[in-house]
Amino acid sequence: MNPASHFLISWAVANTTEIPRRDRILITLTGVLPDLDGVGILAELLTENASTPLIWYSRYHHVLGHNLLIGMVLAMVVFLFSARRWLSASLAFAAFHLHLLGDLAGSRGPDGYQWPIPYLYPFSAKWTLAWSGQWELNAWPNILITAFVLGATLYLAWKRGRSPLEMVSLKADAAFVAGLRKRF
Ligand SMILES: [Zn+2]
Repeated sequence: MNPASHFLISWAVANTTEIPRRDRILITLTGVLPDLDGVGILAELLTENASTPLIWYSRYHHVLGHNLLIGMVLAMVVFLFSARRWLSASLAFAAFHLHLLGDLAGSRGPDGYQWPIPYLYPFSAKWTLAWSGQWELNAWPNILITAFVLGATLYLAWKRGRSPLEMVSLKADAAFVAGLRKRF
């Protein structure tokens, strides 16, 4: 799945219960951070025609950030910095795994590559996960899921008075919610 979908799904997870803003931010970030292992795409594109191309994206995307160890590290960070420690760390752990699940379900490349997830990396190659029913990154189920969580995000903003904008600016968030409530 693409980062925007992961972001909205994680935001929804962070809002399944009443926790402080900082906790919501930490949980949401946990659900997006795994895809940082995809930044190697820059090096890969830049060196595409070089004599020794860097294949960091092909080699490390869905590997470095998509495994149990990273999930536990992120949950621990959330535990350390959140207010509702156990609850928020658990939700972060769930958001992390929903990310993996989303990738397993809908990340097939146009070339058919499945981007398997080595869950026990770097300790073992066992449990390298892939699902034969996987659909493509831009297939309709991804669009449907994203539309659904986007709807949930807007509903939550209208109902509870907060949106993901609170992550960057409370002022922008308040303005967004006010605009939304005025209209609906
Ligand atoms: Zn991912």
